[in-house]
Amino acid sequence: MNVSARAAVRDRLRIAIQKSGRLGTPARALLAACGFTWCEEREQLFCGGVDQPIDLLLVRDDDIPGLIADGVCDFGIVGRNVLAEEAARRSESNLADAFTEFRALGIGRCRLDIAVPVEWEWRDTSVLAGLRIATSHPCLVGRWIREAAIGAEVVALAGSVEIAPKLGQADVVCDLVSTGATLAANRLKPVMTLLDSEAVLAGPATRLDGPRGAIADVLLQRLDSALRAEDRRLVMFEAERDRVPALLDLLADAETPTTMRIDGSEMYAMQAVCRGAFTWQRLDDLRRAGARRLLVAAVERMLA
Ligand code: ATP
Ligand code: MG
Repeated sequence: MNVSARAAVRDRLRIAIQKSGRLGTPARALLAACGFTWCEEREQLFCGGVDQPIDLLLVRDDDIPGLIADGVCDFGIVGRNVLAEEAARRSESNLADAFTEFRALGIGRCRLDIAVPVEWEWRDTSVLAGLRIATSHPCLVGRWIREAAIGAEVVALAGSVEIAPKLGQADVVCDLVSTGATLAANRLKPVMTLLDSEAVLAGPATRLDGPRGAIADVLLQRLDSALRAEDRRLVMFEAERDRVPALLDLLADAETPTTMRIDGSEMYAMQAVCRGAFTWQRLDDLRRAGARRLLVAAVERMLA
């Protein structure tokens, strides 16, 4: 059976996520925030959706782009770096694009950085000419070397890239960096970034038809709502009429601030959805400007 025939016989949606590793837990938390639940047993790699026709596949992250390309699953939560590496590999083999990034999810943020020994003086990429670069992203790095005419050699490694210079396998590395602590522990320093990465929802390059297309729309709607609600606070308070303009000024960055006269009172009720952590400083500013009975609440869901 070919790819489209295999995918066509399914009427349930399949999402692949990392079984463990860095993205397993946050990916599950995000899907749970979308209201999806699965019947899950220890060591199971396939979890059936309970209330919705969406099943979960628990796999190694490197397999996710290929599973989407083969039509085995429809969506996956995977680092942009993994998706970009597989896209570069497919392009090297003259294969058509088979997956695409649907949403950036704001988890698993990192950079794919060139790192050199700390004692080296870095000027620009000419420093890399004739050197060996160890990386677990050989296609991405290889393409960059060709396009920027760096004249370096790629040493492909599956893991432990950062110790390659110490072991004499390579001169420098191109590795994933979040805090930089692993590089520093190996006496390496990041000098330039090839890719800014985070976990993304990856899906098919062409639109899904039929029932799975409709389920995919629900998935995307719920994901957008969960992503919008995350990191938002609902701020509510009361104020006297003449204080309202100054308070609105303090909420200039907020989404849809609302002001309503409280029935049978001279006071006004105000509310706004604000981004990010709502600091004590901000609360004090509002209080000084005349806000009373202040309330800050986490936002669970936001529908457009
Ligand atoms: P698997 O066993 O599933 O193949 P893995 O060891 O390849 O797992 P992890 O180390 O769990 O992968 O990393 C998964 C993803 O997390 C990376 O592809 C990357 O997108 C992201 N990530 C965030 N910070 C880092 C980091 N400091 N090092 C490596 N990956 C990171
Ligand atoms: Mg992996």
